Amino acid sequence: MMLSPLKAEALDDHSTLRSDNEAWDRVRRRLRAELGEDVFSSWFGRLELVDMVGEVAHLSVPTRFLKSWIQSHYHDRLQALLVEEFKHIAELSLSVRGAIAKPAAKNPISSNSEPISVARIPADRNKADGFTAADPKGAQEGDALTGAPLDRRLTFSNFLVGRSNALAHAAAERVAHNAAGDAPLYNPLFVHAGVGLGKTHLLHAIAHETSAHGRRVIYLTADRFMYGFVSALKAQTALNFKERLRGIDLLVIDDVQFLQGKSIQQEFCHTLNALIDAGRQIVIAADRPPSDLESLDERVRSRLAGGLVVEMGQLDEALRIKIIEARITSARLHQPTFEVNPTVISYVAKMVVSNGRDLDGAVNRLLAHSTLTGGAMTVESAEAAIRDLVRTREPRKVKIEDIQKLVATHFNVSRADILSSRRSASVVKPRQIAMYLAKVLTLRSLPEIGRRFGGRDHTTVLHAVRKIEGAVNADATLKDDVELLKRMLQD
Ligand code: ADP
Ligand code: MG
Repeated sequence: MMLSPLKAEALDDHSTLRSDNEAWDRVRRRLRAELGEDVFSSWFGRLELVDMVGEVAHLSVPTRFLKSWIQSHYHDRLQALLVEEFKHIAELSLSVRGAIAKPAAKNPISSNSEPISVARIPADRNKADGFTAADPKGAQEGDALTGAPLDRRLTFSNFLVGRSNALAHAAAERVAHNAAGDAPLYNPLFVHAGVGLGKTHLLHAIAHETSAHGRRVIYLTADRFMYGFVSALKAQTALNFKERLRGIDLLVIDDVQFLQGKSIQQEFCHTLNALIDAGRQIVIAADRPPSDLESLDERVRSRLAGGLVVEMGQLDEALRIKIIEARITSARLHQPTFEVNPTVISYVAKMVVSNGRDLDGAVNRLLAHSTLTGGAMTVESAEAAIRDLVRTREPRKVKIEDIQKLVATHFNVSRADILSSRRSASVVKPRQIAMYLAKVLTLRSLPEIGRRFGGRDHTTVLHAVRKIEGAVNADATLKDDVELLKRMLQD
């Protein structure tokens, strides 16, 4: 079955080829029967028979790691099977085929490593009203303190409330109204949610509302904060930058998971402390809870966790319908003939489950479709229009349990060992690798991962993640090993 690329000259004729194929199949079947499907596919799924020269069968695997594992654990058994099934073979030789292309497994923090850039304003947000907290002097500081422009459309009145975001919305409204002068209730307010679930919308809404009360507001993305701070340092106006930041009523920082760099974090921490101590409101958004902001210093994390932390979950179907309807209503302002019946709306809401951004995309496609065809929208035409959004919905979900099983198999320990409190090196390393993989391949938080690993503390998980991250960079074999496990889990 896997007899490619078997060199033709090594074989006598077609019947030899066929019988060799059959023999190779039998070797694989027997291995599978002896080892079980999990172990077999982990270790032998990509084992190929390259050719047979004289008494030697040449086999190949894609990585050094696989090679050394098979060599040290299964060499004798594999050779015995080959000898039995191929009468002329006495020996096995195993090699690594080709150089493997390693997928760039970036974590979201280090992947954002163009360190400083001005805030990215999506193209469709060019209606920004240029709201700023700036005065003309601000320009001297490389626009650092002008803040990022606010999008006019991202207001409370356009923010639709459902089960998943009711709490965050309520907290945001309280903060916005309270910023009219009283001491902050929740400080900082920390909102976290996955991509496209409305964080930026809510933050802009707070900033609009607060500035409408005549308060001094700065809205910054984390990278803009970094940009501001670093350019102020260069221009030797850092002090000025700090003073001005501290002279505002509300500081809003979006996507704080991108904040990086030691001195910048220090500065961020000082700013937080100074503003909070002075009774100024801070609102922060990130794609994960403070405890999971691994690149941040412990002090910053605990300061962030010290106010109110609220999560916004996935948009439920009722909320998705509301958002779609609202988008259709506003599209109709420009295109009065655009009509979508309730059946189609509910169909789209059922199919596009991911986030608000995809819902916007879906409505844009329906609009384009209706503009082009002029006809009434049916479920069939809607299906065609949003097909690509539905397909790209979710990458394959990796389960923590699968990670534990596979890692256990690979390191020849049991899953129970991984979950146990045993501390021998032979168990600790696979356990740490499994925790690391759980962190990079799933959306689970550190505390959740800790729970799933026998009730461990989130700091233990964080320690494991950092340890493996470091070790992978220093140890090529381990790197292969981890890459391979990753791919096995994601295929
Ligand atoms: P995030 O910052 O969390 O990635 P955004 O705030 O940019 O997400 O939201 C993505 C899109 O979805 C925006 O167009 C936003 O207006 C819309 N959206 C998300 N949640 C809501 C909501 N509750 N009501 C109305 N629109 C929403
Ligand atoms: Mg955002």
